[in-house]
Amino acid sequence: MAYPVSRKLTRMSGSYGPRQPIRLPDGSLTPAWHGGVDFTPLRSGSRLPVYAVGAGTVVIADRTTSPSDFSGMDIGIRLADRSIWWYGHLSRVDVNVGQRVRDGQQIGLMGATGRVTGVHLHLERHWPALNVETDPWPYIEHELWVLYVIAIAPTILISTYVDVLDPMHAVGMSFGFAVAFSSVVLLAKRTTPARPLVRRISHTSFWLVISGFSLFVYGYLALTAGLSLRFLSIFEVYDVREDYAEVLAGAGLLGYLVSPQANVVNPIIMAAGIYSRRWWLVGLGVIGQLVLYSGTGLKSILFSMLAVVILAFIFRANLRPRGILLLGGASGLIAVTAWVNIVQGSVVWSSLFARRFLITPARLSSHYVEFYSAN
Ligand SMILES: [Zn+2]
Repeated sequence: MAYPVSRKLTRMSGSYGPRQPIRLPDGSLTPAWHGGVDFTPLRSGSRLPVYAVGAGTVVIADRTTSPSDFSGMDIGIRLADRSIWWYGHLSRVDVNVGQRVRDGQQIGLMGATGRVTGVHLHLERHWPALNVETDPWPYIEHELWVLYVIAIAPTILISTYVDVLDPMHAVGMSFGFAVAFSSVVLLAKRTTPARPLVRRISHTSFWLVISGFSLFVYGYLALTAGLSLRFLSIFEVYDVREDYAEVLAGAGLLGYLVSPQANVVNPIIMAAGIYSRRWWLVGLGVIGQLVLYSGTGLKSILFSMLAVVILAFIFRANLRPRGILLLGGASGLIAVTAWVNIVQGSVVWSSLFARRFLITPARLSSHYVEFYSAN
């Protein structure tokens, strides 16, 4: 896979997904959904070359443009995986329909044709057989950073201190993790992401599934553990968790219902509310989470609400946090809690965060390795 433009001379200026509409020179607004990614030259206005992201066949080579034309001069290239990569707003098209192109071959020049505010490349990825478009540039780098911060780094750094494995075994495991992860990083830079399996579903059926599932979960919760909504300080959660464990012993299905509701469905409801500015929807998601938190005592449910707000802010501002910030953020949080402890004269907060970010991941990896070495 080749990068569609020079990495050094451009920056990614727009990501795939919802965005604040942009006012165009003719006064009209862009749609609130951005179906691709944008690359803008660092030196504004430079008409830099664009390259084929993979070997394939040219299916669109449009050299015409008119004021009402959204994408201006554009090129479509079909790759072996049947996805079509669509390049818009070009100033020059160097290929013709039916022509085979090599991975990384120059196919044209960036431009400002179509409905734009300036020179940039707009790149989309379509799957005609599935009738979907997907994020052309999946942020594998970010996903790998998340994995590194929450699992790999703690395992490498402190598995020798958590006393699960004997020291030699722990060192061997850390080494294995480091080698395996480095290989994944190198490999991820070369491969294309897997083809999506989902079909686009309608707005109505999506919300029918969401509300049907939620009704079932809260109905089942009401019949088993009972619904309650009360303020629960994070110091009381351990008692609630014991009660919840007793309920679970009698109604095992509950465990399988509560986690998707708390980790997937309610965050979607909150995010949809924030995005569409329907605050009652946000309120509904928050109440839903608070009910689950009061019933289970799982702190992650409480923190998820903060996480949704932070993510909404990041997406809306179109920020593109570098992975290293995640590492700094996790370490910074532990440092801040250490300071809070000194002020408060207790160890509650640093214990909480050091356990979440360092000890639990290292222990979990060690237990997995121990179990699978023995069985
Ligand atoms: Zn765009």
